[in-house]
Amino acid sequence: MPLPDHFYRQMLDHLAEGVYFVDRNRRILYWNRAAEQLTGYRADDIVEKCCAASGLDHIDCDLTPLCEGNCPLNRAMQGGKGISERVFLRHRDGHRLPVDVRTRPVYDDKGEIIGAIEIFSDASDRVRVENLNRQLQKQVRIDLLTGVPNRRAFLELAKAEFDRYQRYGEAFSVIFTDIDFFKQVNDRHGHRIGDRTLRWFADTLRTELRKVDTISRFGGEEFLILLPTTGAEEAVRTAEKLRRQLASDLCPTTGEPLSASFGVASVVAEDSTESLIERADRALYRSKQAGRNRVTYFGPGDVEEITGANASVRSGSSLPKADRER
Ligand code: GH3
Ligand code: MG
Ligand code: MG
Repeated sequence: MPLPDHFYRQMLDHLAEGVYFVDRNRRILYWNRAAEQLTGYRADDIVEKCCAASGLDHIDCDLTPLCEGNCPLNRAMQGGKGISERVFLRHRDGHRLPVDVRTRPVYDDKGEIIGAIEIFSDASDRVRVENLNRQLQKQVRIDLLTGVPNRRAFLELAKAEFDRYQRYGEAFSVIFTDIDFFKQVNDRHGHRIGDRTLRWFADTLRTELRKVDTISRFGGEEFLILLPTTGAEEAVRTAEKLRRQLASDLCPTTGEPLSASFGVASVVAEDSTESLIERADRALYRSKQAGRNRVTYFGPGDVEEITGANASVRSGSSLPKADRER
């Protein structure tokens, strides 16, 4: 038994998704109840109007108007296939509503395209969840105290830099730095001033670095800096500049001098991300051993091939990790 038209109408009116049909000129011929609820426009207001002149005023996620030129209904009819995308419509009240739309061409008995159907649903909840996810993803990569990337973010960036090095041979370097006698800052001024000092330290380094460089808080008062497209000599010069900058003035949070020690390493063929960071860490330890407030560069085999102006001049291999105490 063929089902009567009103059966289909009732069924469409019971859907939670907005559904409408346009002819080849985008004249709206059908508008279901959910479409009325989602847009504020009743079928009586909108049926017989051209979609582009209906007030729905669709725009995409870049706020580009879609009605002239890039209309998904037009594209579905011209391309003969379905399109799914996120757009924004204007509710009758004037506010913008994000909607996920699916448009499909509709064919007659002879296989000619006679129009298109659009099915759309309120995407507000999905947009909220997506924004929250983006925010959380950002937060898990940021150190809450200093606002710079954390260890996890650094390792991701270093891995990407390492991949670039392996593919294109683009050298890069890392600088490990650790504040000298930071425990005394906490002991003398309290943890709150200690925290402020860490923020100041991160800010000071950040302003001295290039935009492409990344400073990250790797642990308590240890920071790791990634210097893309930077060879050994330039990396040592950068570390030396940072060291000098820190040592040049009294620290504003304590009113006392504050210095840091630095370890520098540049990537070589036999490195992994881990071995590069570990070499910079050992070079930093050498700077501590040699009196602090200095820069040490370790090449392969922990040989100090290059030293900064005030750098440690001792060379040789590092102590095993177990012997180290900072
Ligand atoms: P060295 O010159 O050998 O590096 O000496 P140091 O005193 O800086 O090194 P040590 O590792 O003994 O002390 C680091 C201190 O950093 C101990 C810890 O209380 C402090 N610290 C670590 N994280 C934080 C933090 O988030 N806030 C504050 N205020 N202090 C922190
Ligand atoms: Mg320290
Ligand atoms: Mg430390």
